[in-house]
Amino acid sequence: MDKREKAGKVLDILEKEFPGATTALRFENPLQLLIATILSAQATDKLVNQVTESLFKKYRTAADFKGADPSELERDLSSINFYRNKAKSVRGACVKIVEEFGGRVPETLEELTTLPGVGRKTANIVLGNAFGQAALAVDTHVKRVAQRLGLTASDDPDKIEADLTAIIPPERWTMTTHLFIHHGRKTCKALRPDCEHCPIQAYSVYYKDVFLKKKK
Ligand code: SF4
Repeated sequence: MDKREKAGKVLDILEKEFPGATTALRFENPLQLLIATILSAQATDKLVNQVTESLFKKYRTAADFKGADPSELERDLSSINFYRNKAKSVRGACVKIVEEFGGRVPETLEELTTLPGVGRKTANIVLGNAFGQAALAVDTHVKRVAQRLGLTASDDPDKIEADLTAIIPPERWTMTTHLFIHHGRKTCKALRPDCEHCPIQAYSVYYKDVFLKKKK
């Protein structure tokens, strides 16, 4: 079976396993999703949602974040790890959004990745979920699941994105991210993947080459 066919079958199964899978980050507009995604690096979605609930009441527009007192914004984010750097990124991104994009979050990968603290992963999350574009974001779960399935041999997120988008049709890109994240959190965990109960074990290289060999 070639990789294209394998990816299609895996996604069919995971879609049944996680119907309606979507991001757990709460947002009402592209700016809120951009900021929540910046804050979510190495932090749980649950914690980010707790912080943004009050943050988004206090700061409603990019201009509000631009005008924020930097140390006050740091205090607003202080329950999240790396809050100093994240406060800098959030404010820096909003300054640029106001000064160069007329106060609106830009809608292209090229423009989004010019914002401080915004790499391809964050940009793709915003494009896919706030703007409804075809965009596949590679986080640690997507990377691990793709590698274990044998859909990529790379360790580099940009290359993994290229490998996956070459074999998955664009209309499934955004959902691929959600499904691989859900599967990575529930079953294909980093340390102890639950291969025995995995619904896609028939398509997994790791299952054949590592899990079954260990059992022997
Ligand atoms: S069989 Fe194991 S390693 Fe392969 S996808 Fe399933 S949980 Fe992950």
